[in-house]
Amino acid sequence: MTTKHYPPPGKKMPQSHERSIPAVDHGPDLYLDFQGQRLLNLASNNYLGLAGSKEMKEASIRAVEEFGTSSGASRLISGNYSLYTALEEELCRFKGTDAALVFGSGYAANLGILSTLAHRKCLVFSDRLNHASIIDGITLSRATHVRYRHADPEHLEYLLAQKPVQAPKILITDTVFSMDGDRAPLPEILNLCKKYRVLTIADEAHATGILGRGRGLVHELDLEQEMDLHMGTFSKALGSYGGYVAGSRELIDLLVNRARSFIYSTSLPPAVVGACLEALRQVQASPQQGEKLLDLSRQIRSFLQRLGYDTGKSTTQIIPVIMKKSRAVLQAREDLVRAGIYAGAIRPPTVPEDSARLRICLRADMTHKEIEVVQKAFSTISARQYQT
Ligand code: PMP
Repeated sequence: MTTKHYPPPGKKMPQSHERSIPAVDHGPDLYLDFQGQRLLNLASNNYLGLAGSKEMKEASIRAVEEFGTSSGASRLISGNYSLYTALEEELCRFKGTDAALVFGSGYAANLGILSTLAHRKCLVFSDRLNHASIIDGITLSRATHVRYRHADPEHLEYLLAQKPVQAPKILITDTVFSMDGDRAPLPEILNLCKKYRVLTIADEAHATGILGRGRGLVHELDLEQEMDLHMGTFSKALGSYGGYVAGSRELIDLLVNRARSFIYSTSLPPAVVGACLEALRQVQASPQQGEKLLDLSRQIRSFLQRLGYDTGKSTTQIIPVIMKKSRAVLQAREDLVRAGIYAGAIRPPTVPEDSARLRICLRADMTHKEIEVVQKAFSTISARQYQT
């Protein structure tokens, strides 16, 4: 009898202090239950609080009552019900494009987009801090991955200028970066892409619902015409689930026909698609919610800076509190739990060495009471003790 390799050769079993799934019980509201304590949840991407809204829940229930609990098949077989068409038409209006396509998740969207548009002879230019789904999509495409320094157009131009003029080129960037809460320098990047004839893709995962009256950073800067594809997710500010891409009819048709993560996966269930559609309506009806969240973020960021915390280059609702060493961040997270707050402790390899951080994600439905909890908690724990 042959012995099974468990784990397979070359793969180490994780140690108990490595990643594990935290038991955090919560509904869509601002608080969660962790180890018997009720904590303010600053680790959720439900940025507008939409996941708990009465309208979203009702839209979901209506969709289940009409279409059931599963789509039953992939879109191209029999999983394409009328809510999907309504959602893609709404996305076109929202993004101002001719066509749009919904994927099973934002992760699946990036995998599908990049593995379809890029190929072995392509060069894909990607910000060093782009999301993992982008990196995986480039790997799957077998294109050459050209990483430029974070938010650095000069380095991008240096790299573009070195490559053969005739090589097909694609550029993809997060518009708001998930671990730093800063924004991509889109005007400079898009100028270079025009000069070097590069196809452009924006990942608006963390900007959708907030910047540009909810439409994203590209819209805030009036750059819609310059961007070829707008990708995003329904799973963050939009309070639902699923990914999307919006752009020209030609590019979307290509994705429908070639994107394997779209073709070979069951389409989203009605409860989810119903909520996605309602979320787009909510954001268009109340675009000021994003602005309100940005104001609140400015207020909390300057409060933290006054206490001596390093909040990096954040200009959005995502605020890193950089403490360098993983040990310090884990200690700070524990201290915050005692002070009533649950925040993410982000460590290498998710972020570069010596830049471990707490990451706090703010929400538009936080009231004066929650702002006070944050201010009190960070005043109780002192910035100095974590800066070793
Ligand atoms: N892009 C970015 C920038 C993200 O932060 C995320 C989610 N963390 C994704 C894509 C993937 O989206 P989803 O969670 O819908 O798979």
